[in-house]
Formats: sequence, structure tokens, C-alpha cells
Amino acid sequence: MRQAGASFLITLFVLAFCPPGLAQPAGSGAEVEQAFAAIQPQAIRAHMSFLADDLLEGRRTGTRGYDLAAKYVAAQFETLGLEPAGSNGNYFQPVPLARMTTAEPECSLAFVRNGRKTVLQYGVDYFTSGVAENTNDTAPVVFVGFGITAPELGYDDYAGIDVRGKIVAFLAGAPSSFPHNQRAYYSDPVVKQKNLVARGAAGFLGIFTPELEQIYPWEHALQESRLPDVSWADETGRPHFVGPGAAVLSWKGAEALFAGTSHSLEEIFKNAKAGRPQSFALPVQASLRNTGRVERIESPNVAAVLRGSDPRLKEEYVVLSAHLDHVGVGEPVNGDAIYNGAYDNASGIAILLEMAKAFSRLPTAPRRSVLFLAVTGEEEGLHGSDFFAHHPTVPIGKIVADVNLDMFLMLYPFHDVVAFGAEHSSLARPVEEAAHRLGIAVIPDPIPEQVIFIRSDHYSFVQQGVPAISLMGGFETGDPAIHGRAIWDKWMQDVLHHPSDDMSQTINFDAGAQFAKLNFLISYLVAQDDKAPSWNAGDFFGEKFRPAK
Ligand SMILES: [Zn+2]
Repeated sequence: MRQAGASFLITLFVLAFCPPGLAQPAGSGAEVEQAFAAIQPQAIRAHMSFLADDLLEGRRTGTRGYDLAAKYVAAQFETLGLEPAGSNGNYFQPVPLARMTTAEPECSLAFVRNGRKTVLQYGVDYFTSGVAENTNDTAPVVFVGFGITAPELGYDDYAGIDVRGKIVAFLAGAPSSFPHNQRAYYSDPVVKQKNLVARGAAGFLGIFTPELEQIYPWEHALQESRLPDVSWADETGRPHFVGPGAAVLSWKGAEALFAGTSHSLEEIFKNAKAGRPQSFALPVQASLRNTGRVERIESPNVAAVLRGSDPRLKEEYVVLSAHLDHVGVGEPVNGDAIYNGAYDNASGIAILLEMAKAFSRLPTAPRRSVLFLAVTGEEEGLHGSDFFAHHPTVPIGKIVADVNLDMFLMLYPFHDVVAFGAEHSSLARPVEEAAHRLGIAVIPDPIPEQVIFIRSDHYSFVQQGVPAISLMGGFETGDPAIHGRAIWDKWMQDVLHHPSDDMSQTINFDAGAQFAKLNFLISYLVAQDDKAPSWNAGDFFGEKFRPAK
């Protein structure tokens, strides 16, 4: 999972689904039972134990630990008799990456107001990361609210304001008054950067908000920003997207920016909360210098395919994806510097491997082909999956769906599920059908503020027009004394992206096996169906990304 933790109280509805008139899935129940029998809790434990071992040093993209993990996954695919589906007949698809390291002592940020200069302190007032080229800009600053232009909502933070050659400052996130989908889409920093670049802005200052501090504390963000960043590289070895010079301001840094103006930070946050667009020029010049180093590295995605059995449909693919990388070695916590990533995302890979085993045990292969994909570079921004979606090893137009697995928390027994993305396409139907068969309730997204739909690898497929889903366990534990939501919140706060996400924590492997069965059955139903999944009519993401016919 890309970073952002959680702690919000939200009333939760549990919808016990019992959809009327659903057909029996194609393929006999006996076939499915046979495949289910292949899914073993202890095998999930075995995969996770290997992948989350200290020897793999947190599987950071571009490290030996990651490469060992990739070797492991390829060996498992080969053992199952799956065909290679990487590059050149291999299981590996090398992803060219630009690794960017910020030269912190050579970076600087200062505000000049009425000839008076305020020098900001790196790490306290601001930080930067992902410096793809050295920049040195001095320009007036214009505040542009959230930095969002959403014509379909009649919302524009840039209305009537010229930012050419200026440095824009904006708040992280998107107005909470936006509908859920638009809020997710427009809070994407890349969407914001493309918008400001198109308007000719010279650089930007992102402002930490109280909302962001809640789910992703400044200190944690700062620590992660000090690790090298990566992006997939184009033919010239440069990152495929290079934004302008940028810095992230803490509240303290933002206070320095607004000091001496008639706008207090408090008032700005209040307007933002109310969803009021706001923009105004500031009587201040910013001097922003970013310096960094870029190296070219490579890190593989791992891909295998189970060929379909239908003469026509076998040309189409259901992709099952999970990220294999984690954040590596970092700041020690209680003497432990290895961020093992047991749940994030050794769990997803372990479940993917058990699903691959189940598919390979079917007496008859599913009608469509199934492509199993372990991706690199997720933690730095979905780079491995985005590279695959831009350079697919099978035609992108033949990929009918992506079912993604990211961080299944097996902290308690598994009774309900959230299907991120199901509301956008006909994939809702196999989700309901599979969950119903397994006696699992499907619940609505209880944490919309976390915009999970744009935060894992399925979104790379969505951006190429492929309907996609990613499932998360719900909070029902089956025991009123065990509070799923509280356990989940605490884990997101204390363990996500910490060294303690290792094999010593509570892991209910039976829950993992049940989750693997559910994802298997959903994918199997999609692979068997006469019709490929389709976006819902008028769906926001479908309209945005569906390829023109
Ligand atoms: Zn993560």
C-alpha cells in the first residue's frame, strides 16, 4: 500500500448480499472445490516467511533483497508449470528506473517579503524528494487552494488567476465536498502537477494539511522522503514524468509563507474544509533550489500466464496483480532497521501464489487466459504496474480486468469484504456472486477519505481503461468483544511501514486462505464469463480513461 494511515470514526453498514437470480458459475462446483483444496494456510505462511525474512532486507526496489524475492516468485511460477509472460520468453520484465537521491545539504528554500529574507529549515519547515533534475527558481508565489481544476464539478482553483512563471502553493488532497471518485482522482499529486505545468507555473509548494497529518504524520513523511525515490524511465533514462521544482511545507513552513498577509492558515484550512475554492497572489517571492542525483537502475516485474481453454477467449487475459516490493532498510525502531513488509505486501504475493496454484489445479483451464503479475516499485508510486500497463507483455486491449491484492490484514477471522472499484464496472457482479457463495458480506467503502482506489496497482490498469478491483477485509470479526475497526486503525497507525510489520505479529492464516478462495472465485468467474467486464455507463473513471472506440 502506498503511504497513508488512518483513524476516522465512520458508521459502518453491513450489507448481507443475497442477490436474486444469479446464475450458477460456469464450470462445475466440483472443479471449483478441487481448486479450493489447493489453497493452504500453511503455504501462505511459508511464502510470507520467506519473503518477509530479514535476509531479504525489506525488498526495496532495486536492491538485492528485492531481486531474491523476484527469483522466488519466478521459481514458484515455474514449479506450477505456468508459462513465462515477462520479456523475451522469461518470467522477468526488467523495468528501467531512475533512482533519485536528494542532496539535502545543497537544497534551500527562502521567502523574501519587502526585502526581508526568511530562510526555511530543511526537515522542520519543508522537505523535498524525487529530484529528477537540479532546479533553481526564484518567483512570486500564488496560492491556488487545492490546485484543482474540475470542470465537470464547476470547480477551479485557478479561475481568473495567471500563474505563468510563478511558484504555486496548494494544499494536499481535494475538497471533501467532492463526490468520492472525483476526490480520489483530483487528490493525485501527478494530476495536480500536470495541471500546473499546463498553466506554465515554474514550481510548486505543497502544504501539509491537518487532515493529512492525521493519516500520515509529518515526521513519518519526512523520514520516507529521505529514502531514494524511483520512477520508471523512458528510452533516454530520464523519469517518464518530470515535474517542476517542488517542496512540501510543514504547517510551520506554511505559516512562514502566509505571515504578514491578511490570510491566516487557520482560515485557509477552514475554507478548504468547506470546499470553497480560494486563490490569491502572495506578497512574497520564493527562492527554491533543489539538487539531487539520478542513477539508472533496473528492477523486474515477474509475470506468468496460464493459457485459457476457449479457442477464442484464450486471447483475452484476466490479470491478477500484487506488489512484491516494500520500503527496505530505514530508520531503526527499537533497534530494528529492517522493514520486512509481511502484510505489505508479502501477504498479497503469498495469496497470489496460492491462487496461481489453485488455477493450475483446475481439471480444465479457465476459458480466458490468466496472467499472474508481481510488480516492483509500488511503494514509490505504482511504477512497476504503470510500466507494465504502458509496456504490457500481452496486448493491453486484450486485458479484460485486473484483480489486485495489496495488504490483506489477517488480524482476525474474515467475515466481510470491501471491493474497491467494484462500483465502477460490471465486476461488482462476480464479487457479489463469489462472496455470496463463500458466505462473506460485501460492505461499502468504510474509509473513503483514504482514497484507496488510486493508491495501489489496480489504478495503473484503470488509467489504461481496464476495469479493476482490489479487495480489503472488512471489520467484522464474528465476536462482539473483538473490535475489528479498532484493531485495523491501530495497525495502520503503528505498524504500516514500520519494522514491526514482520512475522512476529498476529497472522490468521486461515483468514488468508479464505481471502485467496474469494479472490480466486471472482477471477475464475471473470475468466469463464461469455462477456468481458465493462465500465458502468457514465462512470467517472470509465469516461476518463476508457479507450476511444
Ligand atoms: Zn506500502
